[in-house]
Amino acid sequence: MFFILIFSFGAYADSFEIPEFSDDTLGKHTQLFQEQSRKLSLEEARAQFAQGYFRSWSSNSISLGIDVEPAWMKFRVNNTSRAEQRYRLSIETPWLDYIDTWLVVNGKVVSHIVGGDAIPFEQRPMQYRFYAFEHGFEPGVTEVFIRVETIGPMAMPVRFSAVENAVKNDIANGYQYGVLYGVMMALALYNLVLYVFIRQREYGLYSLYLIGFVVNSLSYTGQLHTLITYDFGPYFQDWLDIFLMITYSVAGLHFARVLLSTKDYAPNLDRFVIRTTVVVPVGMLLGFIFNQLFFSMALAFLLNTCFVILFVAMGIRALYASKPFAVIFILSSVTAAICITISTLAVAGFLVPYNDYTFKAIEVGMAFEAILLAVILARQFRMAKLDKLIAETYARTDTLTQLNNRRGFQDSVKPIWQNICREKRDASIVLLDIDFFKRFNDQYGHDTGDRVLQLVAKCITETCRKGDISARWGGEEFIILLPETSRNQATLQAERIKLAIAALEIRVAQVSLSITASIGVAGTEAGKFNQEFMALNTLELMINQSDRALYVAKQSGKNQVHVQNSN
Ligand code: GH3
Ligand code: MG
Ligand code: MG
Repeated sequence: MFFILIFSFGAYADSFEIPEFSDDTLGKHTQLFQEQSRKLSLEEARAQFAQGYFRSWSSNSISLGIDVEPAWMKFRVNNTSRAEQRYRLSIETPWLDYIDTWLVVNGKVVSHIVGGDAIPFEQRPMQYRFYAFEHGFEPGVTEVFIRVETIGPMAMPVRFSAVENAVKNDIANGYQYGVLYGVMMALALYNLVLYVFIRQREYGLYSLYLIGFVVNSLSYTGQLHTLITYDFGPYFQDWLDIFLMITYSVAGLHFARVLLSTKDYAPNLDRFVIRTTVVVPVGMLLGFIFNQLFFSMALAFLLNTCFVILFVAMGIRALYASKPFAVIFILSSVTAAICITISTLAVAGFLVPYNDYTFKAIEVGMAFEAILLAVILARQFRMAKLDKLIAETYARTDTLTQLNNRRGFQDSVKPIWQNICREKRDASIVLLDIDFFKRFNDQYGHDTGDRVLQLVAKCITETCRKGDISARWGGEEFIILLPETSRNQATLQAERIKLAIAALEIRVAQVSLSITASIGVAGTEAGKFNQEFMALNTLELMINQSDRALYVAKQSGKNQVHVQNSN
């Protein structure tokens, strides 16, 4: 890692004055060296500093890479006031295993503070989410020596704050994490509920992804370990961190697969994602069994890097496949990737300054991503509903004429007919059949026939009133239910339709053709809703009667309306 090499000799003073200095990370005031294969005592380390075998750090956060030799740091606190000043020293990465701090005044050790996550929680200097202690600095100079030994990333944002500032920070952090976790947990639980009811995998995976991320964040920020205080051994937090890290990565990748249906258009990428999410965790598990923390940790970081890259790659593939939501997906994953990079670089002490905002960029990015992904899920939900609606409408509509088909007619008529029966209202049925249509088809072609059907359908819709329900009943047969209409009124309407159809001009190659239709009408006598029609299935009876009437109309020479009088 090349950022390790960024340092300069003696360019920064190793001492600073309190109480002017109120709250900051100390990277720029720190001298540092790393042990060479042998553990040094405080005396040996002091001698090495005195001989000038150290380097001065140039950025806020000190980072030395993963799995490196233990580091010694030194700086001097000069209390220029006349009173004792209480300050808190904390190292804000909770996974550091062993941390020792010695406070030296006039060459004498006045305090030795032992901590780190390898030390049981109860024995840590402060019962806190990371290494921290408070100390009253006497007037004059106090030399501070810190030794850190850890497996994993040696990132050491050493923070030094007046105690009242430290407490303010604690409260601010509480609120900030509360908001970030609150947003993510609310989305996670909402989608979990959706999953329970709808059983669509993407909702479940999305929820798992978010919960996984929150728990992972709780773990690597040390918050979880203020709750789990039982001593599971020195490397418990490290193991938990990396397994939680891959839990959300794996859930996130599968969520993306399902959401974008990568299998359909990018089978290779899809297979690669599946394999990665199996091979890496299995490798880590083997590392766990054989107690190879560094091996498993490297795999976890590898998967996490892959996760960010694959997320963006899947989004781009989806965009090429013109998947809906691909753009939002890319936007969300790129934002998250940028935020993750910012936090990583800040902790690494490279390019990005380390501060509260850059450290939390990862949570902010993930919360933003979570919201955008929720937008996608919501839109997908809506699309699914629209699809269903469209499918239902198609199933009820005749594509040629856009009228109801038989099923559409029956569905629409049912509730109206119940109402008619209950309130004993008038109602009629008009059944219409085009005359000599077979001959017409044969003579002028099927396409012209289709056009005639469309024209007749238009005629019917135009002559119908608002409450009437019309449909294409069969090949060239149409039906209309007329509520609030006695058979006499219906006959008048049928006559109008008959005339309108006869008046149609069908143009075929300069020639104007016309057609006629025969119509059968059945219905109630005005104001006398017949008992016969009371039951539900009597709609069928009325339709049969209109069919009989139509037959009579055909028999009597076509192009006429016949009414079935006897019910
Ligand atoms: P009638 O006067 O006795 O009703 O005789 P018709 O020829 O109109 O009746 P028939 O039932 O013998 O023939 C109906 C014809 O309607 C047969 C079929 O070719 C035609 N037809 C049915 N559906 C369609 C369609 O969707 N498009 C077209 N162009 N023709 C259709
Ligand atoms: Mg016909
Ligand atoms: Mg017919």
